Amino acid sequence: MPLTGIEIFKLLPKTNCGECGVPTCLAFAMNLASGKMELAACPHVSEESKGKLAEASAPPILPVTIGVGAKALKVGGETVMFRHEKRFENPPGLAILIKDTMDEAEVNARLDKFKQLQYERVGLNLRPELMAIKEESGDAQKFESVVSKVVQNSDGGIILMSENPDVLAAGLKACADRKPLLYAATKDNLDRVAELAKGSSCPVAVKASGLEELAQLTSKLTGAGLKNIVIDSGSRTTRQAFQDQVIIRSAALNKKFRPLGFPTITFPAEMTDDPMKEAIIASMFVAKYGGIIVLSDFRGESLFPLLVERMNIFTDPQRPLATTEGVYEIGGPGENSPVLITTNFSLTYFLISGYLETSRVPSWLLVKDTEGLSVMTAWAAGKFSADIIAPFVKKCGIVDKIKHQKLIIPGYAAVESGGLEEELPGWEIQVGPREGAHIPAYVKAWKA
Ligand code: SF4
Repeated sequence: MPLTGIEIFKLLPKTNCGECGVPTCLAFAMNLASGKMELAACPHVSEESKGKLAEASAPPILPVTIGVGAKALKVGGETVMFRHEKRFENPPGLAILIKDTMDEAEVNARLDKFKQLQYERVGLNLRPELMAIKEESGDAQKFESVVSKVVQNSDGGIILMSENPDVLAAGLKACADRKPLLYAATKDNLDRVAELAKGSSCPVAVKASGLEELAQLTSKLTGAGLKNIVIDSGSRTTRQAFQDQVIIRSAALNKKFRPLGFPTITFPAEMTDDPMKEAIIASMFVAKYGGIIVLSDFRGESLFPLLVERMNIFTDPQRPLATTEGVYEIGGPGENSPVLITTNFSLTYFLISGYLETSRVPSWLLVKDTEGLSVMTAWAAGKFSADIIAPFVKKCGIVDKIKHQKLIIPGYAAVESGGLEEELPGWEIQVGPREGAHIPAYVKAWKA
């Protein structure tokens, strides 16, 4: 059972030094108990207390990692019911289904989709992460060969799907070093699948018929020493599956019920044959509270909106979305291409870069870090003024890429033009349009 705030307090140094970011040890204890802070924030906890506090400091939904290296996917680790309380931590993984009964052309097509359906948006790469390989043939060798093919042709995360431990073991042979998720341990095969997971140090998913059975099965797995667990309540109707997601999250967070404190795996693919309805069900799980979402197929028209929804839900609502400061090349610019500057509010960057692409005029876009504020807000807050812009222009490296010294500033920052000419001797400061929509016509008429 998790410790209460008072129990945690008794294990802390009680010096009230404030180094953890809150003024007293009691406040820290309360935050730790509610999952709002992490034990690592206090540098003075004794080793003995650390051991006792490990349970209390673990997030109510334990984090689980699928895969290895840079492409590893972390799910779970959530600490709140609603994102206005604190940001949601780890976006759900999106998986494409590959069945071992599919012919080679279909498997290849799905591997291609997995690679190709990636999108750049607001400076981020949006893409799915997982391939769920499902055994339907009953043939362990066939399953293994499909898994091998996927491993050889993709670097994505892998879910091995079979309720037959022998089939899972065959698949595991082909990809154990990729640390796949083993789906699924059930009441009938739990011991053998648990052994496989333990022996290979892979995460394991448990599938049950209802929440009560699910809690019993996860308790058995944790009793066997497994912690990397993903849970499936077994519901395959939209209403029941949604209800289960909310109950699981609430039981783990509000009741501190550890047997349900794991990320979930959901299957819109098994809830409908209608692709549009499947996308809508998946979008529900993105918002509430899927850890992994398995889709029957990837279609650009539904995958892209899901990726964007996921990005939006899993941003911090208390911080604006920001693009990295730097020099961005739009359309392969050269030394006589126009140079524009804007702020790093992602929507601003997205719109301006979009307008520049539309213009087909190769351009340099300088993006200044304004803590994610838009042009007008940043300017009003003193974060986009001449004395801040000029040092950035000098240091960002644009001077080595161009022959002219002309800088186009946003129309809304026109008043900074005089100051910029003083701060950037030799530069001509040009005031661009106030509205982004007028940028294409402006750059088309622009001359170096
Ligand atoms: Fe107490 Fe540790 Fe926070 Fe200092 S850093 S106030 S000792 S909890």
